[in-house]
Amino acid sequence: MQTQPEASSKIRQFTGASDYRQRFVIREQIDKYLPGGKHFIDEDVIFSRLASASAETPNDPVRVREILAKSRAIETLLPEEMATLIHVTDPALLQEMAETALAVKKSVYDNRIVMFAPLYMSNLCVNRCTYCGFRCGNEAQQRRMLTMDEVRQEIEVLAGKIGHKRLIAVYGEHPDTSTEYIAETIRTAYATLVKSPHGAMVGIRRMNVNAAPLPVEDLRVLKQVGIGTFQVFQETYHRETYAKLHPAGTVKGDYDWRTTAFHRALEAGVDDVGMGVLYGLYDWKFELMASLYHARDLERQFGIGPHTISFPRLEPASGTDLPATSPYLIDDETFRRIVVITRLSVPYTGMIVTCRERPESRDACVSCGITQMDASSNIAIKGYSDFENESHQEKDRQQFVLSDTRSLEEMIANLARKDIITSFCTAGYRCGRTGGCIMDSLKTGKEGKFCKINAVLTFREWLDDFAGAATRALCEPVLNKELAAIEATLPKFYPAVKEHYDRICRGERDLFF
Ligand code: SAM
Ligand code: SF4
Repeated sequence: MQTQPEASSKIRQFTGASDYRQRFVIREQIDKYLPGGKHFIDEDVIFSRLASASAETPNDPVRVREILAKSRAIETLLPEEMATLIHVTDPALLQEMAETALAVKKSVYDNRIVMFAPLYMSNLCVNRCTYCGFRCGNEAQQRRMLTMDEVRQEIEVLAGKIGHKRLIAVYGEHPDTSTEYIAETIRTAYATLVKSPHGAMVGIRRMNVNAAPLPVEDLRVLKQVGIGTFQVFQETYHRETYAKLHPAGTVKGDYDWRTTAFHRALEAGVDDVGMGVLYGLYDWKFELMASLYHARDLERQFGIGPHTISFPRLEPASGTDLPATSPYLIDDETFRRIVVITRLSVPYTGMIVTCRERPESRDACVSCGITQMDASSNIAIKGYSDFENESHQEKDRQQFVLSDTRSLEEMIANLARKDIITSFCTAGYRCGRTGGCIMDSLKTGKEGKFCKINAVLTFREWLDDFAGAATRALCEPVLNKELAAIEATLPKFYPAVKEHYDRICRGERDLFF
């Protein structure tokens, strides 16, 4: 897809980092989403809801089961209901919550995990976030932004050697990596087609973006180049902590500009938005409640909640000791609780746990409702083409250090052993099933059926194009079981599915529903 010149000319041009903040944070594009000057994150209300839930009897099974029934009916929970779940301590009730979370995930997203990989395009940054290796002034960090040739080389490894179909492109915030640069990298990624080891032409089918908040005009340009999800992590919703970690005078220092990032995206028509808190910066209970208020405000103002919620947790990074010293670091059990409570509170949302987490922690999250994971990830700038698909990390070339360096093939085999199918489906947004439309389809369980079918078709492709003999032998029975389930549950639709499946077996690619 080409950028329309009209929209592109409206993007703000920069002459240097010094005027960047002044030109970028547009007050009227904040105020219009905070009617009456009232922010949807009201700290007093959040603290008082948490306090009253802790004063009640949080382990009351009747009350907890009433709440779980709402989650099963795929209804977004009320803040007071989430506050009750946050305070549950009874092991039997906690177990029931985890089981319900998995049941909700299965009813909305079926029995599959979607795989993707991060592609870091640039580590140039004007901000000074204290926890991040890319922050301006960190002399240890080796700075670079990918040229378009280098983007192509990265895609050659990601799509051609590993077999990814879906990426998240990640950027620092800097005038040299403006929206025009972002748009060009996305166009280049989509246009790069390469041969798989078995000779099929393959490429990236969905480019999600994790970048700084943008003005509406710039978001329209990203919409035109066909980005998937626009992801912005809030880091922390707690204003005082936010101010401490993001110095005043930097673009990121503006809390209101960041908290309204998705309102602008939705206005611009980028209707898949991805939220996240960086866990470890502030009290997890407050952050969970605030994320729910954020999701509910999007639902209220646009009728669309977050397409995904991610769960980044602080990892070691170059030149900062915060990941070891923060008083708010959480243990694995708490992390898992956060995942469970999110699944129950925003039942329709996709949920992502990345390679920041150690393998044991990620594996535990699979059984409580996550829907997406990355694998074979390398977050050094130009890391994939420099190190091919070997796992390799250099602290001063990347934003933080990854804890799970397993390959895509290892992850797929690992999931298959648990009878879980890996999906490379990107059909939803290519068929217009995004935003409010996909929300309805998710809530009624319709999307789960498409998920299952497209998971089967894309998994077939991956096995034929990339799998080694042992992985193939392990995965075929899982695939066959899924195909049989489609035949049993969707008998009228099955012949069309089988026809696509057989064509893929004969070498055709990119067939979907
Ligand atoms: N620069 C843009 C921004 O900050 O909005 C794009 C995102 S940044 C490249 C990607 C995300 O990595 C951040 O939003 C933050 O949540 C996360 N991150 C930064 N430092 C981290 C660390 N030490 N451990 C784990 N995640 C980190
Ligand atoms: Fe820059 Fe983003 Fe890192 Fe902050 S988190 S320093 S904005 S790359």
